[in-house]
Amino acid sequence: MGCSLRFLGGCREVGRSAVLVDDEILLDYGIKPGESQDHLPSYPLNGVRPQSIIISHGHLDHCGLVPNIMDVHPQVYSTPITKNLAAFLAKDTLSIAERARHVPPFYAQDINEFVRNAHTIDYREEFACGKHTAQLYDAGHIPGSTSVLLESENGMRVLYTGDVNLSDTRLLNRADQQPKADILIMESTYYGTEHTPREDLEREFVDSIRETIEQGGNVVIPCFAIGRTQEILLVLYKHGLHPYVDGMGVDVFRMMIQYPEYLRDSSALQQAFDNATVVRPNKRSQLLKEASVVVTTAGMLNGGPALYYINKLHDDRFSKILLTGYQVGGTNGYYALKHHHITIGKRVLRLGMKVEQYDFSAHCGDSELKDIVRGFCDLGGELVFVMHGNNPGKFASWISEHHVDAVAPENGDEFRIE
Ligand SMILES: [Zn+2]
Repeated sequence: MGCSLRFLGGCREVGRSAVLVDDEILLDYGIKPGESQDHLPSYPLNGVRPQSIIISHGHLDHCGLVPNIMDVHPQVYSTPITKNLAAFLAKDTLSIAERARHVPPFYAQDINEFVRNAHTIDYREEFACGKHTAQLYDAGHIPGSTSVLLESENGMRVLYTGDVNLSDTRLLNRADQQPKADILIMESTYYGTEHTPREDLEREFVDSIRETIEQGGNVVIPCFAIGRTQEILLVLYKHGLHPYVDGMGVDVFRMMIQYPEYLRDSSALQQAFDNATVVRPNKRSQLLKEASVVVTTAGMLNGGPALYYINKLHDDRFSKILLTGYQVGGTNGYYALKHHHITIGKRVLRLGMKVEQYDFSAHCGDSELKDIVRGFCDLGGELVFVMHGNNPGKFASWISEHHVDAVAPENGDEFRIE
């Protein structure tokens, strides 16, 4: 028996997840949101050349840097939709870097190599990954998201949750039942926080929108392009509201709808988009002439058309920004919420418009995270590593106190488990 783990990124933080197993398999390789592209995280690979990369899901903080290591020609594995999302995000990262005249983290040929060589794997299909056997389980977080199970030749099983959600959303079914494992590497984004029950949350969200429209204001709903835009359009459709939709979330929808098997109800999603009006860039100013609702990117206000709308409306006390997800420290969304200002280019805009946050999370809340630990222990699991969160140390202490040994590693930490 035995297994080595190197935690390269995503420890005691949310962003740039990367874990190296037995110096062979890299689980995720992400970018930290809000981090300047000129200051890409330097992962201490220390000359290790991973033979394989498994991408848990198509979010930047998990897949954003994968094309950067195509020079070592790793085997890349993910679900089909994740491969498509990762390529889509990589092209966007490249064009942002080009526009900003930053040194890009990779080049077009790296993305091409990634697309040419990445293997696509279905949920629960067993596949060989170097000397390990691997399986991807539905993580219920975004379409195609997975938890990764690795079994070494000597029978040691490592389960990496990735980002995981044990509750149904309008877009997706909850995560699969977790498999038996010896070692668990888990996310902890919402440790210490319970989510508002979905029904109450939707009611408060929709009430706030209706109240703003009745007063003649505009509602700007910044959403992540992948998952959240689609979820929010489903919510608005269900409640009889007719929003505008603008930004990358539209392109992602068009791609997503081609993978109906990864959606809870693809025809409902199609109807939700048919119910919305897609905004062309040259028509943006028109929709602000009357009370309106616009669902737009980016979810943390670090770019995208959301900034156009907020720039126009920032002084209007009748208008609102309704944030719909987690805001990483240092992002505009975080500053909007905590300090009521955002920065566009070199301009700092004070916000006269109201800012509210609605917890449409696609992650487990506190009690579900604890359920994952309990499930793991009930199946005989022995050791937990806690990452991807702001308070992993406290969660690790809770696990150690109530269940089994747990560690909250730092970035760069290495472990040998016998
Ligand atoms: Zn994610």
